[in-house]
Amino acid sequence: MLTNDQLSAWDRAYFMHPSTHLAQFARGEAANRIIEGGKGVFIEDRDGNSLLDGFAGLYCVNAGYGRSEISDAIAEQAGKLAYYHAYVGHGTEASITLSKMILDRAPKGMSRVYYGMSGSDANETNIKLVWYYNNTLGRPEKKKIISRWRGYHGSGLMTGSLTGLHMFHKQFDLPLPYIKHTEAPYFYHRPDRGMSEAQFSAWCAEKLEAMILAEGPETVAAFIGEPALGTGGLVPPPEGYWDAIQAVLDKYDVLLIADEVVTGFGRLGSMFGSDHYGMKPDIITIAKGLTSAYAPLSGSIVSEKVYDVLMQGTDELGPFGHGWTYSAHPIGAAAGIANLDLIDDLGLVGNAGTVGGYLKQGLQAAVGKHPNVGEVRGEGLLCAVELVEDRAGPAFFDPAKKIGANVVGAMLKQGVIARAMPQGDIIGIAPPLCLTRAEADTIIEAVRTAVEEVL
Ligand code: PLP
Repeated sequence: MLTNDQLSAWDRAYFMHPSTHLAQFARGEAANRIIEGGKGVFIEDRDGNSLLDGFAGLYCVNAGYGRSEISDAIAEQAGKLAYYHAYVGHGTEASITLSKMILDRAPKGMSRVYYGMSGSDANETNIKLVWYYNNTLGRPEKKKIISRWRGYHGSGLMTGSLTGLHMFHKQFDLPLPYIKHTEAPYFYHRPDRGMSEAQFSAWCAEKLEAMILAEGPETVAAFIGEPALGTGGLVPPPEGYWDAIQAVLDKYDVLLIADEVVTGFGRLGSMFGSDHYGMKPDIITIAKGLTSAYAPLSGSIVSEKVYDVLMQGTDELGPFGHGWTYSAHPIGAAAGIANLDLIDDLGLVGNAGTVGGYLKQGLQAAVGKHPNVGEVRGEGLLCAVELVEDRAGPAFFDPAKKIGANVVGAMLKQGVIARAMPQGDIIGIAPPLCLTRAEADTIIEAVRTAVEEVL
């Protein structure tokens, strides 16, 4: 077995990490942490530290770590049949069963599941589905996709373009054509402090309508949004937002893609965020919580309305020419089945709602009145504490001060992982859905102590 020092040296010498300051990492100025194991909401690193993972990896290990129900199912599938493709009508018992299980849980009106490996490739698929849909309907000019500033939809060229965070654009000449961004439904950052939530929602819908009209409704194919904003700040939508948006989309025959990569399978305390907020999506993106990240698997759940047109399209144009080698990978599908069963058996969706409410209340009580805490917000187990220089205004910190990262660092010293969200001083908390109240108390105490220490 390699020593820690050897492993660390190889890590810096051979491994190019995502979203990492490469030069600092190579020079040894940025930490590396090698993770060895995990159980429940805790992970263990190579130095023997046990850490409460308050962000469930990248908010994906929803069932918690070390679930033998899922790892056994993976091993069994790998032993029986590790791989076969899904092209031209091929399937496995696992991929077919999982499709039925997903549709049994999905919002009304959904018809089929198309599989990929990541949230990014699923959203890439969605763009192609929407384009194919409009080509079939004889309106090839209807191709633009409207996303939102602060939305996160992936890291590919088109999906990185959909993402509405500047740090994902500026080094890569994004966004590409066809992608537009409208206002973020971020009530705390509303342009006029006098607005009510309902007024702000109406304002967001007006801005969307103005954009559709400016672009030409005949050129706008779809609108994509996370039911509650994730990476852009962990922000539940303001009251009436999705109803107001849906009315605009219906008026101009624009499809709705609900990106439920984070919210799907229970994080908000409902099986899907679309149901939680009464959305009527035409396509739903799923990934992370589908397998609780035990295997890479994603999907696009396609509505009856869209699927009927896709079928018509193949009658006219021939087979749907889009596929990945690993679409519906049997090991991913086996993980998905075991994971969805476990979510039901352990009541994790309900637990996310009740323990999430407890966590939010506890955070509010612990730091809500601190002069540098602008807002404590959340829905289910998707919570955030936003730090500000001055609550009046509010006035935000100079990003160079890295206040959010410093608070997260102070939490880590207490053995609790949170995430400093990429834009703003926002402490993200999105633990596994099996979190207990006692574990929530540990997170709350870590936030309280860290805020006191840094601010
Ligand atoms: N969509 C949303 C809402 C996400 O949060 C993410 C990742 O965090 C993605 C898409 C992209 O998923 P992946 O990183 O698996 O490509």
